[in-house]
Amino acid sequence: APWTASVLTLFPEMFPGPLGHSLAGRALANGLWRLEASDIRGFATDRHHMVDDTPAGGGPGMVMKPDVIARAIDAAKAGLPAAPALYLSPRGRPLDQERVRALAEGPGVILLCGRFEGVDQRVIDGRGLEEVSIGDFVLSGGEPAALCLIDAVVRLIPGVMGAAETLAEESFTGDLLEYPHYTRPTEWEGRQVPDVLLSGHHGRIRSWRREQAERLTRERRPDLWSRYLARQGGGMRPTD
Ligand code: SAM
Repeated sequence: APWTASVLTLFPEMFPGPLGHSLAGRALANGLWRLEASDIRGFATDRHHMVDDTPAGGGPGMVMKPDVIARAIDAAKAGLPAAPALYLSPRGRPLDQERVRALAEGPGVILLCGRFEGVDQRVIDGRGLEEVSIGDFVLSGGEPAALCLIDAVVRLIPGVMGAAETLAEESFTGDLLEYPHYTRPTEWEGRQVPDVLLSGHHGRIRSWRREQAERLTRERRPDLWSRYLARQGGGMRPTD
């Protein structure tokens, strides 16, 4: 079976959304991956299809009900028993390329999208949901976060992207940010494409790109830079 994203949401009409276009959309149409968006409201059993209620202890907003969410999760798990179940949440561990790669190697993922103040803690604990954040900012709902996560995974599925090299060189596949890109014209608004890139000298181009990647990483992401230095160890010296 192809890699499957099973999304639990109050807004199933938001899917596939942007993932229905371009690379991901073509791959979806070609059956390289599958998307199921289930409406959480369909798992509400009361007459008013209630999915949320006021917070215990008071305070603003609403909280998604544990029984409704649990039924939605259980149904998704029945369809995708070996997939991890993730709750998109600003409190979660920040998503990174390593986790994305691991997810791409599995059978798929179950994604719970929160709304309002989030979901009752007991269903997070009771169903062993792993909380995953897409960054230190607060969205109004988990849906855009789910779209980001799925997009990042889908482009790693074999056959989705064109050239394999595009994947091998880019940011975060190694430990460095990517080097700058240029295309024609060679001069634009008085700005030149760096000479070395026009030299046709592949060895020099490769070392220029590496130097640039190292410089950008050192300047912008001290966290990645220290990890890079540590991993280099006794091997090749970075140009410092
Ligand atoms: N009250 C929550 C808090 O302060 O942590 C924020 C809830 S937010 C308004 C509603 C939903 O958006 C969350 O349940 C979660 O599913 C999603 N969400 C918001 N920010 C997110 C982020 N950075 N990463 C992943 N999901 C996020």
